[in-house]
Amino acid sequence: MTNPSGRHFLQIPGPSNVPDRILRAIDRPTIDHRGPEFGALGREVLEEIRKVFRTRHPVVIYSSSGTGAWEAALVNALSPGDRILLCETGHFAATWRQLAERLGFEVEILPTDWRRGADAEQIGALLAEDRGATIKAVCVVHNETSTGVASRIADVRKAMDAAGHPALLLVDTISSLGSIDFRMDEWGVDVTIAGSQKGLMLPPGLAFNAVSDKALAASAHSRSTKSYWDWQDMLAANRDGYFPYTPSTNLLFGLREAIAMLLEEGLDAVFARHARHGEATRRAVAAWGLDLQCVNPEEHSNVLTAVVMPEGHDADSLRRTILETFDMSLGAGLGRLAGKVFRIGHLGSFNDLMLSGTLAGVEMGLELAGVPHRPGGVQAALEHLAATATAARRA
Ligand SMILES: *Cc1c(COP(=O)(O)O)cnc(C)c1O
Repeated sequence: MTNPSGRHFLQIPGPSNVPDRILRAIDRPTIDHRGPEFGALGREVLEEIRKVFRTRHPVVIYSSSGTGAWEAALVNALSPGDRILLCETGHFAATWRQLAERLGFEVEILPTDWRRGADAEQIGALLAEDRGATIKAVCVVHNETSTGVASRIADVRKAMDAAGHPALLLVDTISSLGSIDFRMDEWGVDVTIAGSQKGLMLPPGLAFNAVSDKALAASAHSRSTKSYWDWQDMLAANRDGYFPYTPSTNLLFGLREAIAMLLEEGLDAVFARHARHGEATRRAVAAWGLDLQCVNPEEHSNVLTAVVMPEGHDADSLRRTILETFDMSLGAGLGRLAGKVFRIGHLGSFNDLMLSGTLAGVEMGLELAGVPHRPGGVQAALEHLAATATAARRA
């Protein structure tokens, strides 16, 4: 596309579209991060962000991508050589595993076929067998962004409790926080890992660890080498709203606005909006006669939809056609799904007409790229959106 006019459609499952209101909030002179104005900003965002995690516990904010928050969680809560149980639900879980192994942790893998979520029963059974409590943490990706599968975290906690096992529960919510229901305290999550560029609607660059009392207590005995990631230094400075190192001041202006937007709409309304868009997208895929990567109806992600390409057709070539013809970016298949799936992001700052345009681009792309499909996906989605629009507005 040599001379695109109008807006690019950024329909990858993160980074998501940054709304104008957040762009305006970021577009300000940077202030003194040791001065009084910053202290007030820091105190406000550190307090308010807890509501998005549904926690009363402290939230540590790093200048980093989400991957940094994975590392921070492990090196603070654990010691080298500790055994951890990690559910390999897809590419992101596999990458977290690799990071944990590089850091010297002993990772026990619970494999899946990358088409379903973490198996709570299996986790419970493994923990029940671990009578010496050698497993120190269970690691689960809440929303596996590579497959479009959302694991049921409350069930994982129930299984851990039923096994009577003391392991910490570490959950990656990088692509779920602020988009699908997550309740840190109610679900007994010990460390919640998050990032700025997905449900929080910010540019990339901030990462989060929300930390339970139990995780904080465990960190007091951690023997892992760390400095920049150390929770203690962050929490000490955070008490007055400051940071031990130069924070991403302008992203924090944006974060203040993002939290305000999420709370104004209401978290439950935000989740319902994502659920409605997820359902409309899945109806489009079904009408096209294509398969979803997620095979368990109870685990469909409302953040993104991963669509399986018919045998002999390349997802990347379809994505290229759509980018070049309609100026829309879709998510690629990652890891072992490269070329086999494409991913439609429907998260963050998003509405019915953006979804309609997105699905229209996909349907026209399928036609142009010669991918076998039935027409009528967009129509099926529009019908669902129209049928539920009035109820959605009243809710
Ligand atoms: C995006 C994502 C990551 C990686 O985050 P970065 O910001 O790229 O480091 C990890 N886990 C999940 C579930 C993600 O969606």
